[in-house]
Amino acid sequence: MFNYHIDRIPSIGIAVDSELPSDKVAFLLGEFLRPGDKPTRIRFEVQKRGTNLLVDGELSLDYQFDCGRCAESFGRHAIVPIQIVFMFGVEEPSADDEGEDYDVSGLEAANAASAVEGREVVFYQGQHIDLEAPISEQIVLALPEWPICREDCRGLCVDCGQNLNLITEATCPCGGPKPEPERPPTKLAVALAAALGNGAVPPARRQ
Ligand SMILES: [Zn+2]
Ligand SMILES: [Zn+2]
Repeated sequence: MFNYHIDRIPSIGIAVDSELPSDKVAFLLGEFLRPGDKPTRIRFEVQKRGTNLLVDGELSLDYQFDCGRCAESFGRHAIVPIQIVFMFGVEEPSADDEGEDYDVSGLEAANAASAVEGREVVFYQGQHIDLEAPISEQIVLALPEWPICREDCRGLCVDCGQNLNLITEATCPCGGPKPEPERPPTKLAVALAAALGNGAVPPARRQ
């Protein structure tokens, strides 16, 4: 899917507007998200800029999930931007981490820099570019790793299982523990916990 021969891309570029197959969508959504009822549409254009190929578009997606705190089902709509630049060549290991890791110089470097502009950089060799992996990556990165219905979801009473979002009182009628104003884990906290093997955070999504 989305594999193109460079020479068959005309100078005016190509425009794609299609539906993503539901099994592909289900795979990208991973463990905690499910496809919604509406089809998933993907639109993008591929433009040639010298040996670079710019890909710009978006994915329109409905998905459903069970909140990670209160376990209720919810649906969401997401627009995922797709911005990729395919650069001919091989990524050079950089001496520093300042991003000067493209094997180009002078005007070519300036063109390369302007082509990047927030796009994901993918290096290609030969005559084909394959958009499936980088597009999949952009979609996966844009989706929540551990979906919750809202930032201040109160979750379930640990004593009786009451959904605390459905009551107005500060404490559960069962007399259970006062719910703490729980905050969602920050990305740093999740990364740290994962690095330390702390089981308190959800498992990482598959790639
Ligand atoms: Zn919730
Ligand atoms: Zn309770």
